[in-house]
Amino acid sequence: MRTYNERRQVLVTGGAGFLGSHLCDRLLDDGYEVVCLDNFFTGSKRNIAHLLDHPRFELIRHDVTEPRALEVDEIYNLACPASPVHYQHDPVQTTRISVLGALHMLELARRNRARIFQASTSEVYGDPEQHPQAESYWGHVNPIGVRSCYDEGKRCAETLFFDYHRQHQVDIRVARIFNTYGPRMHPKDGRVVSNFIVQALRGEPITVYGDGSQTRSFCYVDDLVDGFVRFMRLDAACPGPINLGNPGEYTVLQLAQAIIELTGSGSRVVHEALPQDDPTQRRPDIRLAREKLQWQPTVALQEGLQRTIAYFDQLLSTEKP
Ligand code: NAD
Ligand code: UDP
Repeated sequence: MRTYNERRQVLVTGGAGFLGSHLCDRLLDDGYEVVCLDNFFTGSKRNIAHLLDHPRFELIRHDVTEPRALEVDEIYNLACPASPVHYQHDPVQTTRISVLGALHMLELARRNRARIFQASTSEVYGDPEQHPQAESYWGHVNPIGVRSCYDEGKRCAETLFFDYHRQHQVDIRVARIFNTYGPRMHPKDGRVVSNFIVQALRGEPITVYGDGSQTRSFCYVDDLVDGFVRFMRLDAACPGPINLGNPGEYTVLQLAQAIIELTGSGSRVVHEALPQDDPTQRRPDIRLAREKLQWQPTVALQEGLQRTIAYFDQLLSTEKP
């Protein structure tokens, strides 16, 4: 049993991943005890190596598709492969992770009377017919396509969160996260920002899928994590869902050009086939986040890209030739 005076214990599932590791950093800076739970499917020890000796950090190797008993005060549920390449690698497992992971963490929250945050996604809107996307939009998702394992898995997880809230009074916080980038993205996870930066730094062709007119809105990781923490700290009951993302919207071709310029790369753009069900446009309506959390992104795309390029430059320079 923990004593009354001990610090608040926060569980971060997926804590060795891109977003999770930044969240662990932030929570430790804020004085919490942090338990990072991860099975290293897409995450990496490198992302949390600097935390392993921290007195308030603990690492548990565990798969969220199996239940786990723990004493915790708050839970951030981030465990799930997030890039199309990773989540389509084993689609059945992706759905299991989203749904069983949510179920097990909600049970843990119920038993501990812990507040629980869900990393949901803009993918619940599918290929949206409303633009920008507000939380009131129910989405346009293909239930049988190659992205469905992720989209429908996350939609089902949201259903579980809201049913635990209504049925068992669990204090939930559901955030719908839009495309986020920054240091510690996996260099091979196939996401557009990491792909383009790695290609530009290596002088390889920049692979634009389709004609590059599809749009995305890119949020820098520090801004996003600040949104997570503000959402969790709200005293008033506020289940969400709340969109978290940067409303600046760019075509994929514009992103390629920006990265070529910022890296000073001689890479040229090549066009490859557009993946099935690739959303044509995406931009968050963040009025709710502004109103409820007094939150909005502060890092401009150019600044965030510069920081991310510096990270990959360093990472690639340590690679063996
Ligand atoms: P990531 O792949 O870097 O991190 C996911 C982490 O979960 C990894 O450390 C991985 O090892 C771990 N994990 C996967 N399966 C697991 C399992 N069965 N048991 C325990 N751990 C497991 O991805 P990320 O970008 O950091 O995304 C984190 C969360 O945020 C995901 O839930 C994702 O769906 C959501 N999200 C991310 C974005 C984004 O742009 N990065 C956008 C929308 C939603
Ligand atoms: N994309 C691209 N080239 C790449 C990787 C991705 O043109 O090398 C495109 C992809 O087709 C999509 C956009 O960039 O239109 C964002 O892709 P990402 O995988 O980063 O995220 P998501 O599709 O999940 O938003």
